[in-house]
Amino acid sequence: MFEALMQRREMLVSHILTHAATCHGDTEIVSRRVEGDIHRQTYAQTERRAARLARGLDAMRIERGDRVATLAWNGYRHVEAYYGVSGSGRVLHTVNPRLHPDQIAWIVNHAGDRIVLFDLTFAPIVTRIAAQCPSVAHWIALCDALPDALRDELAGVHCYEEWLAAQRDDYAWPEFDEDVAAAICYTSGTVGNPKGVVYSHRSSTLHALNLAMPDCACLSASDSVLPVVPMFHVNAWGAVYAAPMAGCKLVLPGPALDGASLFGLMDAEDVTLSISVPTIWLGLLTQMEREGRKPRALARVVVGGAAAPESMIRRFEQDWSVDFRHGWGMTESSPLATIASLKARHAQLDTDGRMRLKATQGRPVFGVQLRLQDDDGAALPWDGRSIGEIALKGHWVASGYFDSGKPNPTRDGWLPTGDLGTIDPDGYVHLVDRSKDVIKSGGEWVSSIDIENIAMAHPAVAMAACVAKPDEKWGERPLLVVVRKGPVEAAEILACYTDKMAKWAIPDEVRFVDQIPLGATGKMLKRKLREDLGLVGA
Ligand code: ADP
Repeated sequence: MFEALMQRREMLVSHILTHAATCHGDTEIVSRRVEGDIHRQTYAQTERRAARLARGLDAMRIERGDRVATLAWNGYRHVEAYYGVSGSGRVLHTVNPRLHPDQIAWIVNHAGDRIVLFDLTFAPIVTRIAAQCPSVAHWIALCDALPDALRDELAGVHCYEEWLAAQRDDYAWPEFDEDVAAAICYTSGTVGNPKGVVYSHRSSTLHALNLAMPDCACLSASDSVLPVVPMFHVNAWGAVYAAPMAGCKLVLPGPALDGASLFGLMDAEDVTLSISVPTIWLGLLTQMEREGRKPRALARVVVGGAAAPESMIRRFEQDWSVDFRHGWGMTESSPLATIASLKARHAQLDTDGRMRLKATQGRPVFGVQLRLQDDDGAALPWDGRSIGEIALKGHWVASGYFDSGKPNPTRDGWLPTGDLGTIDPDGYVHLVDRSKDVIKSGGEWVSSIDIENIAMAHPAVAMAACVAKPDEKWGERPLLVVVRKGPVEAAEILACYTDKMAKWAIPDEVRFVDQIPLGATGKMLKRKLREDLGLVGA
């Protein structure tokens, strides 16, 4: 081997913030607070406040490697925790407040959290679970002044601003091994108990670098970025690392996630890029139609977490000239694995062809490898036709779960995703289903995602889910479940499928419901829906 002569510097998330404070010191983080007002502070101020937080943890004798949890919306104090906790060598545990309180207590205990930082919105959860969480030494409310009622209900609770004010704001961010844990995030546990995915400083840094690439979120110091995706689930898809890395203004919406609030904030802060799940974009599109315009600077949206219907992509791209980037990933992949950006030769495609490609889950980003495999783990071809499970390998893909007591989930280094789909020769993934939701009719796979997307294109359909209905002759048949937002009958919806799908794959029946059950990350809970409809075990 011929030794290289390059400096070795560990990749640590503290470097991201110190870079932003040094080179983009006056660039702002703008937050809508729980109190409803708008708060502004610069990256330079954020670094000093994160330093106070790190010193506060020292004062409380929190050791390196100890877990510090957050129960918080997207806001500047949560950003301070991201950097103050991980940057000082502790492990940030972002807890999803939408989970059931018993599940939150289970997660806090499983992670062995020493401190919990919480927004006042979540004080009722904290007071309910505090007695069940023996590892937690300190509960810290993210507020200017503690409400009297909270002081009475939670003995020893701290006020964040008082705690910070008592610390000095100079701090030497420690250097350590980039492979140590920076953060831990639990999967939403739709099956069994949640599982802890542990991100390293290296994986988080590399993932953020990739998110900033032109074919991904395409971030630059001219951008103003609004992550709607919560900082409590998969690190807001890395946006809170990638934005300061690139020097973008960061706009954080707090708890106000309805279309009108998001539109107003985007408009006021010249947001150029926003990141979220499809359901949030439905609210924003409705508001854009009401206003007759888009938020004035909005140029791109990144969408993932669930399949984005082609009809939504067309509305953004054709009605409002907003570049739509559809991505796919999971908690275990930090989450970015694929993203649907086009290549030079796709400029020759007609609009339909381009929209079809943009509606796929996209092609792998550098740093993540895909494999399409059958039930025995044998590789299937990337021919755009063969359906198999997708497995992942890469710099920011999990190798196991925290203290799960279960065997390592990877096989030959490949992590199975439970997602079924095809991959075309260019690497574009088309997901057909999650393996646990799969529908097999007469031995053939029916894509619930394709069926849902066609239904969603109907203007009177607010939400659509396709589930398996047991059938004597075919084993299973697809059943379409619809939440209406206008008058429409089953026959009219079913007519939308003519010429769009093979006849045998078209649902025989539509059932109208008032709502479809959603999980803690806003995804449809199909197992629960099937139970509600009496389809399980029939
Ligand atoms: P959960 O805890 O529900 O698994 P994740 O955020 O880890 O939460 O969810 C990852 C899953 O979400 C993927 O395995 C996939 O099934 C689904 N998903 C994510 N992005 C997309 C997408 N663009 N299209 C379809 N499904 C998606």
